[in-house]
Amino acid sequence: MMDVDPILDVRDLRVTFRTEEGTIRAVDGIDLTVNGDETVALVGESGCGKSVASLALARLVAGPGLKITGGVRLAGRDLPGLSDRELRRLRGATISYIFQDPMASLNPVKPVGAQIGEAIRLHRKVSDIDSEVVRLMKLVGLPDPETRRKAYPHQFSGGMQQRVMIAMALACCPKVLVADEPTTALDVTIQAQIFSLLAALRAELKMAVLLITHNLGLVAQNAQRVYVMYSGRIMESGSCEAVLRQSAHPYTRGLLAAVPRLRHSQERMTGIEGTVPHPAHLPSGCRFHPRCPLAEERCRIVEPEMQTVGEGHQTRCHCWKQLM
Ligand code: SF4
Repeated sequence: MMDVDPILDVRDLRVTFRTEEGTIRAVDGIDLTVNGDETVALVGESGCGKSVASLALARLVAGPGLKITGGVRLAGRDLPGLSDRELRRLRGATISYIFQDPMASLNPVKPVGAQIGEAIRLHRKVSDIDSEVVRLMKLVGLPDPETRRKAYPHQFSGGMQQRVMIAMALACCPKVLVADEPTTALDVTIQAQIFSLLAALRAELKMAVLLITHNLGLVAQNAQRVYVMYSGRIMESGSCEAVLRQSAHPYTRGLLAAVPRLRHSQERMTGIEGTVPHPAHLPSGCRFHPRCPLAEERCRIVEPEMQTVGEGHQTRCHCWKQLM
Protein backbone atom coordinates (compact mmCIF):
# COMPACT_ATOMS: atom_id res chain seq x y z
CA MET A 1 0.00 0.00 0.00
CA MET A 2 1.31 3.49 -0.87
CA ASP A 3 2.04 5.77 2.10
CA VAL A 4 0.09 9.03 1.94
CA ASP A 5 1.51 12.10 3.69
CA PRO A 6 -0.64 13.27 6.59
CA ILE A 7 -2.47 16.55 6.06
CA LEU A 8 -1.13 17.72 9.45
CA ASP A 9 2.22 16.57 10.81
CA VAL A 10 3.43 17.99 14.13
CA ARG A 11 6.94 17.24 15.41
CA ASP A 12 8.33 18.17 18.83
CA LEU A 13 5.95 21.13 19.26
CA ARG A 14 6.81 23.20 22.33
CA VAL A 15 5.02 26.25 23.72
CA THR A 16 6.55 28.07 26.68
CA PHE A 17 5.71 31.29 28.53
CA ARG A 18 8.18 33.20 30.68
CA THR A 19 6.37 34.46 33.80
CA GLU A 20 7.31 35.70 37.27
CA GLU A 21 6.65 32.18 38.54
CA GLY A 22 9.16 30.74 36.11
CA THR A 23 9.01 29.16 32.67
CA ILE A 24 5.66 27.59 31.96
CA ARG A 25 5.95 24.58 29.64
CA ALA A 26 2.37 24.44 28.40
CA VAL A 27 3.19 22.11 25.51
CA ASP A 28 6.37 20.11 25.92
CA GLY A 29 7.44 18.31 22.78
CA ILE A 30 4.36 16.72 21.23
CA ASP A 31 4.25 14.68 18.01
CA LEU A 32 0.91 14.28 16.27
CA THR A 33 -0.38 13.40 12.82
CA VAL A 34 -3.80 13.78 11.21
CA ASN A 35 -4.65 12.15 7.87
CA GLY A 36 -6.85 13.85 5.33
CA ASP A 37 -9.90 11.71 5.92
CA GLU A 38 -10.08 11.16 9.66
CA THR A 39 -11.21 12.59 12.96
CA VAL A 40 -8.39 12.57 15.49
CA ALA A 41 -9.03 13.44 19.13
CA LEU A 42 -6.68 15.18 21.54
CA VAL A 43 -7.96 14.47 25.05
CA GLY A 44 -7.03 15.35 28.60
CA GLU A 45 -8.22 17.24 31.67
CA SER A 46 -8.46 21.03 31.78
CA GLY A 47 -5.00 22.54 32.05
CA CYS A 48 -3.18 19.67 30.32
CA GLY A 49 -2.21 21.90 27.36
CA LYS A 50 -4.48 20.55 24.63
CA SER A 51 -6.11 23.88 23.69
CA VAL A 52 -2.76 25.73 23.70
CA ALA A 53 -1.32 22.98 21.47
CA SER A 54 -4.19 23.26 19.00
CA LEU A 55 -3.95 27.06 18.84
CA ALA A 56 -0.16 26.91 18.44
CA LEU A 57 -0.61 24.94 15.19
CA ALA A 58 -1.70 28.14 13.45
CA ARG A 59 0.38 30.42 15.73
CA LEU A 60 -2.77 31.74 17.42
CA VAL A 61 -1.35 31.79 20.94
CA ALA A 62 -0.43 34.97 22.78
CA GLY A 63 1.03 35.51 26.22
CA PRO A 64 4.01 36.80 28.22
CA GLY A 65 7.41 35.68 26.93
CA LEU A 66 5.78 33.31 24.44
CA LYS A 67 8.07 30.94 22.54
CA ILE A 68 6.85 28.33 20.04
CA THR A 69 9.29 25.83 18.57
CA GLY A 70 9.04 22.59 16.62
CA GLY A 71 7.77 21.54 13.23
CA VAL A 72 4.23 21.93 11.94
CA ARG A 73 3.64 20.74 8.38
CA LEU A 74 0.16 21.53 7.12
CA ALA A 75 -1.03 20.48 3.66
CA GLY A 76 2.57 20.12 2.48
CA ARG A 77 3.80 23.49 3.82
CA ASP A 78 6.14 24.07 6.76
CA LEU A 79 4.49 26.68 8.97
CA PRO A 80 7.50 27.86 10.97
CA GLY A 81 9.05 29.22 7.73
CA LEU A 82 6.00 31.34 6.77
CA SER A 83 5.72 35.11 7.12
CA ASP A 84 2.88 36.65 9.19
CA ARG A 85 1.07 37.51 5.94
CA GLU A 86 1.32 33.95 4.64
CA LEU A 87 0.18 32.61 8.01
CA ARG A 88 -2.87 34.90 7.98
CA ARG A 89 -3.79 33.59 4.53
CA LEU A 90 -3.37 30.01 5.71
CA ARG A 91 -5.67 30.46 8.71
CA GLY A 92 -9.20 29.87 7.59
CA ALA A 93 -8.14 28.78 4.12
CA THR A 94 -6.28 25.65 5.24
CA ILE A 95 -7.01 25.37 8.95
CA SER A 96 -10.16 26.65 10.67
CA TYR A 97 -11.35 26.59 14.27
CA ILE A 98 -14.64 26.26 16.08
CA PHE A 99 -14.76 26.91 19.80
CA GLN A 100 -16.84 25.98 22.83
CA ASP A 101 -19.05 29.03 23.23
CA PRO A 102 -20.48 30.28 19.90
CA MET A 103 -22.11 33.33 21.51
CA ALA A 104 -18.71 34.55 22.72
CA SER A 105 -17.27 34.21 19.19
CA LEU A 106 -20.14 35.79 17.22
CA ASN A 107 -20.60 39.54 16.92
CA PRO A 108 -23.94 40.25 18.70
CA VAL A 109 -24.72 43.39 16.64
CA LYS A 110 -24.18 41.95 13.16
CA PRO A 111 -26.58 39.63 11.26
CA VAL A 112 -25.20 36.10 10.98
CA GLY A 113 -25.24 36.20 7.17
CA ALA A 114 -22.99 39.27 7.19
CA GLN A 115 -20.57 37.47 9.52
CA ILE A 116 -20.43 34.37 7.30
CA GLY A 117 -20.03 36.68 4.27
CA GLU A 118 -17.09 38.42 5.94
CA ALA A 119 -15.35 35.05 6.47
CA ILE A 120 -15.81 34.24 2.76
CA ARG A 121 -14.61 37.69 1.61
CA LEU A 122 -11.43 37.45 3.72
CA HIS A 123 -10.16 34.35 1.95
CA ARG A 124 -11.94 33.80 -1.36
CA LYS A 125 -12.93 35.64 -4.49
CA VAL A 126 -16.66 34.91 -4.81
CA SER A 127 -18.80 37.05 -7.12
CA ASP A 128 -22.14 36.39 -5.39
CA ILE A 129 -21.43 36.38 -1.64
CA ASP A 130 -25.13 36.24 -0.67
CA SER A 131 -25.70 33.01 -2.61
CA GLU A 132 -22.57 31.49 -1.05
CA VAL A 133 -23.82 32.48 2.43
CA VAL A 134 -27.15 30.76 1.70
CA ARG A 135 -25.35 27.66 0.36
CA LEU A 136 -23.20 27.39 3.50
CA MET A 137 -26.19 27.92 5.81
CA LYS A 138 -28.01 25.12 3.97
CA LEU A 139 -24.92 22.90 4.16
CA VAL A 140 -24.86 23.12 7.97
CA GLY A 141 -28.62 22.57 8.25
CA LEU A 142 -29.75 26.10 9.16
CA PRO A 143 -33.42 26.33 8.13
CA ASP A 144 -34.83 29.04 5.85
CA PRO A 145 -31.39 30.60 5.12
CA GLU A 146 -32.70 33.27 2.68
CA THR A 147 -34.59 34.90 5.56
CA ARG A 148 -32.55 33.77 8.56
CA ARG A 149 -29.27 35.18 7.23
CA LYS A 150 -30.58 38.61 8.25
CA ALA A 151 -31.23 37.52 11.86
CA TYR A 152 -28.90 38.33 14.78
CA PRO A 153 -27.05 35.70 16.88
CA HIS A 154 -29.39 36.12 19.90
CA GLN A 155 -32.31 35.05 17.67
CA PHE A 156 -30.74 31.58 17.29
CA SER A 157 -30.61 28.71 19.82
CA GLY A 158 -27.20 27.53 21.13
CA GLY A 159 -27.14 24.62 18.66
CA MET A 160 -28.04 26.90 15.73
CA GLN A 161 -25.36 29.42 16.79
CA GLN A 162 -22.79 26.59 16.72
CA ARG A 163 -24.01 25.72 13.18
CA VAL A 164 -23.38 29.37 12.21
CA MET A 165 -19.85 29.06 13.61
CA ILE A 166 -19.32 25.86 11.60
CA ALA A 167 -20.57 27.65 8.44
CA MET A 168 -18.03 30.44 9.09
CA ALA A 169 -15.26 27.87 9.65
CA LEU A 170 -16.18 26.15 6.37
CA ALA A 171 -16.40 29.43 4.43
CA CYS A 172 -12.91 28.94 3.04
CA CYS A 173 -13.03 25.16 2.48
CA PRO A 174 -10.37 24.30 5.10
CA LYS A 175 -8.42 21.04 4.90
CA VAL A 176 -8.31 20.73 8.71
CA LEU A 177 -11.08 21.78 11.09
CA VAL A 178 -10.04 22.12 14.73
CA ALA A 179 -13.07 21.68 16.98
CA ASP A 180 -12.17 22.75 20.53
CA GLU A 181 -14.85 21.40 22.92
CA PRO A 182 -17.45 22.38 20.28
CA THR A 183 -20.48 21.09 22.17
CA THR A 184 -19.63 21.55 25.85
CA ALA A 185 -22.10 24.44 26.16
CA LEU A 186 -24.91 22.45 24.47
CA ASP A 187 -27.34 19.79 25.72
CA VAL A 188 -26.77 16.15 24.76
CA THR A 189 -29.31 15.89 21.93
CA ILE A 190 -27.85 18.99 20.23
CA GLN A 191 -24.34 17.59 20.89
CA ALA A 192 -25.28 14.47 18.91
CA GLN A 193 -26.70 16.58 16.06
CA ILE A 194 -23.55 18.73 15.83
CA PHE A 195 -21.29 15.65 15.80
CA SER A 196 -23.30 13.88 13.12
CA LEU A 197 -23.18 17.12 11.10
CA LEU A 198 -19.36 17.27 11.51
CA ALA A 199 -19.05 13.61 10.44
CA ALA A 200 -21.21 14.23 7.34
CA LEU A 201 -19.25 17.37 6.42
CA ARG A 202 -15.92 15.60 6.93
CA ALA A 203 -16.96 12.91 4.45
CA GLU A 204 -18.55 15.32 1.97
CA LEU A 205 -15.80 17.94 2.00
CA LYS A 206 -12.91 15.45 2.49
CA MET A 207 -11.71 17.45 5.44
CA ALA A 208 -9.84 16.24 8.52
CA VAL A 209 -11.13 17.06 12.01
CA LEU A 210 -8.95 17.53 15.10
CA LEU A 211 -11.30 17.22 18.05
CA ILE A 212 -10.12 18.74 21.33
CA THR A 213 -12.08 17.41 24.28
CA HIS A 214 -12.01 16.06 27.83
CA ASN A 215 -14.91 13.71 27.04
CA LEU A 216 -13.83 10.16 26.19
CA GLY A 217 -17.44 9.22 25.40
CA LEU A 218 -17.41 11.69 22.52
CA VAL A 219 -14.03 10.36 21.39
CA ALA A 220 -15.31 6.77 21.27
CA GLN A 221 -18.30 7.81 19.16
CA ASN A 222 -16.62 10.24 16.80
CA ALA A 223 -12.87 9.72 16.37
CA GLN A 224 -10.76 7.10 14.63
CA ARG A 225 -7.52 7.82 16.53
CA VAL A 226 -6.76 9.48 19.84
CA TYR A 227 -3.87 11.22 21.59
CA VAL A 228 -4.06 11.43 25.39
CA MET A 229 -2.29 14.49 26.77
CA TYR A 230 -1.15 15.23 30.33
CA SER A 231 0.98 18.12 31.60
CA GLY A 232 2.06 19.19 28.13
CA ARG A 233 3.10 15.68 26.99
CA ILE A 234 1.38 12.96 24.94
CA MET A 235 1.01 9.99 27.32
CA GLU A 236 -0.70 7.50 25.02
CA SER A 237 -1.78 7.38 21.39
CA GLY A 238 -3.32 4.94 18.96
CA SER A 239 -6.57 3.88 17.38
CA CYS A 240 -9.65 4.47 19.54
CA GLU A 241 -10.17 0.71 19.53
CA ALA A 242 -6.73 0.09 21.07
CA VAL A 243 -6.52 3.04 23.45
CA LEU A 244 -10.07 2.89 24.78
CA ARG A 245 -10.42 -0.92 24.91
CA GLN A 246 -6.94 -1.87 26.03
CA SER A 247 -5.34 1.23 27.41
CA ALA A 248 -1.66 0.94 28.30
CA HIS A 249 -1.45 4.02 30.53
CA PRO A 250 -2.79 4.57 34.07
CA TYR A 251 -3.85 8.13 33.20
CA THR A 252 -6.04 6.96 30.30
CA ARG A 253 -7.42 4.24 32.57
CA GLY A 254 -8.29 6.93 35.15
CA LEU A 255 -10.05 9.05 32.53
CA LEU A 256 -11.99 6.00 31.34
CA ALA A 257 -13.03 5.09 34.89
CA ALA A 258 -14.48 8.59 35.29
CA VAL A 259 -16.84 8.22 32.28
CA PRO A 260 -20.44 7.65 33.47
CA ARG A 261 -21.98 4.43 32.06
CA LEU A 262 -25.74 4.11 31.82
CA ARG A 263 -25.87 0.28 31.73
CA HIS A 264 -23.81 0.01 34.91
CA SER A 265 -25.77 2.35 37.18
CA GLN A 266 -24.67 0.45 40.34
CA GLU A 267 -20.99 0.88 39.47
CA ARG A 268 -19.21 3.74 41.25
CA MET A 269 -17.37 6.20 39.03
CA THR A 270 -13.81 6.65 40.22
CA GLY A 271 -12.10 9.91 39.37
CA ILE A 272 -8.34 10.50 39.35
CA GLU A 273 -7.06 11.68 42.73
CA GLY A 274 -5.38 15.11 42.82
CA THR A 275 -5.07 17.70 40.08
CA VAL A 276 -2.94 18.47 37.03
CA PRO A 277 0.37 19.98 38.28
CA HIS A 278 1.17 23.65 37.69
CA PRO A 279 3.19 23.81 34.44
CA ALA A 280 5.86 25.95 36.11
CA HIS A 281 6.38 23.30 38.82
CA LEU A 282 6.30 19.93 37.08
CA PRO A 283 7.13 16.82 39.15
CA SER A 284 10.39 14.94 38.52
CA GLY A 285 10.36 11.65 36.61
CA CYS A 286 6.95 10.72 35.25
CA ARG A 287 4.71 13.78 35.46
CA PHE A 288 1.77 11.62 36.46
CA HIS A 289 3.54 9.90 39.38
CA PRO A 290 1.97 11.95 42.26
CA ARG A 291 -1.48 10.74 41.09
CA CYS A 292 -0.66 7.31 39.74
CA PRO A 293 -1.83 4.17 41.59
CA LEU A 294 0.99 2.14 39.99
CA ALA A 295 3.83 4.57 40.73
CA GLU A 296 7.06 2.98 41.92
CA GLU A 297 10.49 4.35 42.83
CA ARG A 298 11.85 4.68 39.26
CA CYS A 299 8.72 6.66 38.24
CA ARG A 300 9.77 9.44 40.64
CA ILE A 301 13.24 9.66 39.09
CA VAL A 302 13.19 8.69 35.40
CA GLU A 303 10.73 10.13 32.90
CA PRO A 304 9.46 7.30 30.66
CA GLU A 305 9.99 7.44 26.90
CA MET A 306 7.21 6.72 24.40
CA GLN A 307 7.16 2.96 23.71
CA THR A 308 5.30 0.99 21.07
CA VAL A 309 2.96 -1.54 22.66
CA GLY A 310 0.94 -2.61 19.61
CA GLU A 311 0.33 -1.65 15.99
CA GLY A 312 0.17 2.16 15.97
CA HIS A 313 -0.33 2.09 19.77
CA GLN A 314 2.18 3.93 21.96
CA THR A 315 2.44 4.72 25.64
CA ARG A 316 4.70 6.68 27.97
CA CYS A 317 4.75 4.45 31.06
CA HIS A 318 7.39 2.27 32.75
CA CYS A 319 4.78 -0.19 33.98
CA TRP A 320 2.49 -0.60 30.97
CA LYS A 321 2.92 -4.40 30.95
CA GLN A 322 1.03 -4.56 34.27
CA LEU A 323 -2.01 -3.17 32.46
CA MET A 324 -2.10 -5.51 29.45
FE1 SF4 B 1 2.37 5.63 36.66
FE2 SF4 B 1 4.97 5.10 36.66
FE3 SF4 B 1 3.54 4.68 34.49
FE4 SF4 B 1 4.04 7.16 35.29
S1 SF4 B 1 5.54 5.66 34.61
S2 SF4 B 1 2.12 6.38 34.58
S3 SF4 B 1 3.95 6.93 37.50
S4 SF4 B 1 3.33 3.65 36.46
